[in-house]
Amino acid sequence: MRRLPRAPHLPHRVPAQGRWLVQGPVRVPEAEQRRVEVGQLDACVGRVGLVGELGVERLVRFVGFGGLVRLGLVRLGRLVGLVGLVRLVRLGWFVRLVRLVGLVRLVRLVLLGLVVVVGGLVVGGIVVLARLVDVRREGCMSLGQIIDGKAVAARVRAEVATAAAALRGRGIAPTLAVVLVGDDQASASYVRSKTKAAREAHVDVRDHKLPATTTQAELIALVAELSRDPIVDGILVQLPLPRGLDEEAVLAAIDPAKDVDGLLPTSLGQLAQGKPTFIPCTPKGCLRLLREANTPIEGARAVVLGRSKLVGKPMALLLANANATVTMCHSRTRDLAGEVRRADIVIAAIGKPELVRGDWIAEGATVIDVGTNRVEGRAHLVGDVEFAAAVARARAITPVPGGVGPMTIAGLLENTVEAAARRRG
Ligand code: NAP
Repeated sequence: MRRLPRAPHLPHRVPAQGRWLVQGPVRVPEAEQRRVEVGQLDACVGRVGLVGELGVERLVRFVGFGGLVRLGLVRLGRLVGLVGLVRLVRLGWFVRLVRLVGLVRLVRLVLLGLVVVVGGLVVGGIVVLARLVDVRREGCMSLGQIIDGKAVAARVRAEVATAAAALRGRGIAPTLAVVLVGDDQASASYVRSKTKAAREAHVDVRDHKLPATTTQAELIALVAELSRDPIVDGILVQLPLPRGLDEEAVLAAIDPAKDVDGLLPTSLGQLAQGKPTFIPCTPKGCLRLLREANTPIEGARAVVLGRSKLVGKPMALLLANANATVTMCHSRTRDLAGEVRRADIVIAAIGKPELVRGDWIAEGATVIDVGTNRVEGRAHLVGDVEFAAAVARARAITPVPGGVGPMTIAGLLENTVEAAARRRG
């Protein structure tokens, strides 16, 4: 093989008893001022350290191309891999390489590289395909699974309809009494949705619409009468009540056996004891969504944001009963972001639009967003979680709207049919 002329102004090596001694007319950095055995260099070529220290040009000048070739094709390949073929070509060494290594060996080297790249792509493709199959099987999207609350609620309502039809077959017509006081538009709309869903699930509804001028005594008298009525299985007093009416006093008139909203102290107490009778509808729906999304709950770190009687507290109790390790956060929690970051399960029930930032969500966490917030300039309701960013990190997440909302009515119907079965079944 023809030796390439060496530039006299560069450091070069001379053979010395089987070793390479570095010499040169110009000042040579300390790192190069050492004897380098072929064996040592052989071991070092694979290390980025030496290449980085000396620089590839110097390294090649150091041992010459012949030295490199003596190190063998594999190590040369490693070197090419390290410094990049492109760089070698740019340096104008390609032709020299061809001359020294031989075209056939170089082509073999390139082909080997291609095989590695193509192989990598094929393996990557298989992994991606497998993930897509998983995703399809679980009904997931390519990011986090978006939990379809409407679909799950439809399933729950179908189950309720089957159970209600079975009771009817035995002469028991599950009946829900709904009490609406005043003319609040949002409350009236909720009541309409609940009534429609109940009828579709074979649950009879008795509507009691009272004027805003209804007194506390009149309202309590009606609720007490419904509590005594043997035909009525469940009583729902639509909240909030108009100003001047004491919610707790009115709710206290509900027979605990008909507390289908699960808001009475007895219902919450039983839940706290791990022997629930009526679980408040929204947390009940959240638990079902967690299960539908195949979320491991036992032993999981669950963070509940909010401690209201309606959502936060019963949700925390439900999760604790299901053997999760529960942290309940509220407006005085010192490090909300830190608590969320540690959570496998996040239940957000705060009522603050997108307060929970997407990057707080741990990779692979399941997020249930209870929040329903109206934001000026946004056509749809907005949740408590920054959905667009959270969906990329979460394993599964509920959207707003279309997540928890539909589950609340489904939970109410479930409780009503359970009440009918318990009282009269
Ligand atoms: P709530 O009674 O107002 O309770 C809000 C909770 O959030 C409180 O415990 C409060 O803490 C906590 N909180 C407020 N600001 C906070 C902050 N900056 N950091 C941490 N915690 C904070 O509300 P809710 O009745 O539980 O409802 C919560 C949300 O869920 C609302 O958006 C509501 O509309 C929605 N919701 C939806 C459904 C549905 O069917 N989709 C049903 C019920 C509720 P403190 O206790 O310290 O004040």
